[in-house]
Amino acid sequence: MKPHPLPKTVAPLPDELLSGWLSRLAAANYCDDAELLAHIKIDTAHGIALDFNVDAAAAEKIANAARVDPDVVRSLTFPAMTPREASLTAQMPFQHCVQCSREGLSLRHWRRAWAFDCQVCGTRLVQTLGKPREEQISGKLIFRARRGAGMLECAAASRGPKQLRRAMRAVTFAMSLKTFRGDPSFAVQNPRSEVRLFCLAAIAAARSHPLAKAAIVSKSIDDYARVALLRAFEKEPRLLAAVDHIAQRRAKSAGPMTASSHN
Ligand SMILES: [Zn+2]
Repeated sequence: MKPHPLPKTVAPLPDELLSGWLSRLAAANYCDDAELLAHIKIDTAHGIALDFNVDAAAAEKIANAARVDPDVVRSLTFPAMTPREASLTAQMPFQHCVQCSREGLSLRHWRRAWAFDCQVCGTRLVQTLGKPREEQISGKLIFRARRGAGMLECAAASRGPKQLRRAMRAVTFAMSLKTFRGDPSFAVQNPRSEVRLFCLAAIAAARSHPLAKAAIVSKSIDDYARVALLRAFEKEPRLLAAVDHIAQRRAKSAGPMTASSHN
C-alpha cells in the first residue's frame, strides 16, 4: 500500500542535496527527518545515506510522497564520479555556509574538498567542528587556503594525475607538521578548520617553494614525519636527495647559533 502524499511539498533548489531537501520537506510538514523517512517507509533514519545512492524503489516512494517526478529525486544525488573526484567528495557534511544553512539549505558543492566559498551567497564556508571563534583565524591563512583550494580544484579536474599528486604531497607535509595522521584526501575534508585550512594553504605554498618547504619540514621531524616525507617522495629519489641537501645546509648555517658548537 502506498503511503499518502505529504500535505505540503517544497520545490528543490539548484544544487540542493537530497538529504537537505528531505529535511526541508520534513520541516514543512512539522516532523523531523527520521519521522518523515519512516512515514515514506524508507529503511534508513538518515537522509545523508541517500545522497550518493538512492535506489529506484526509494526514489519512487519519495517522489510519490512529495508529488514530484522520480527523476527530480534522483537529480538531487551525486552523479557518477571518477575515483579522483570521489576521493575529494565527502560522504558526510564537513562544512557549510552559515547564511544558507539558516534557511535550511544543504548544497552539493559544500561536500567537495576544494569548495571554499558558498556559490549561492559568497560567504566563506565554515567547518562543522570549527572553533566558535572563527574570527581568530588569520586573514593570511584564509587567503592562502583559498588559493590552495583553487589549485586543488584545478588538480582534480586536470587530465593527468600529476597535479593532484603534487597537491597531495604538499598536504602530506602539512599533516606531518600538524601531527595529523591518515589519508591526505581526508585531511582536506577535515571538519576541523585548523587542519583543513593549513593543508589547503600548504598546496599554495608548495607551488612557490616546494623544496625549501620540504627541507624546513624535514628539520627536527619525528619518525612519522620522516615516513611521510619518504612516502611523499618515494618515486622521486632525486628530489628527496635535494631536500636532504637543503636540510643539511640549513642545519649547518644554524650551527654557530647552537651552544654545542661553541668551544
Ligand atoms: Zn551561502
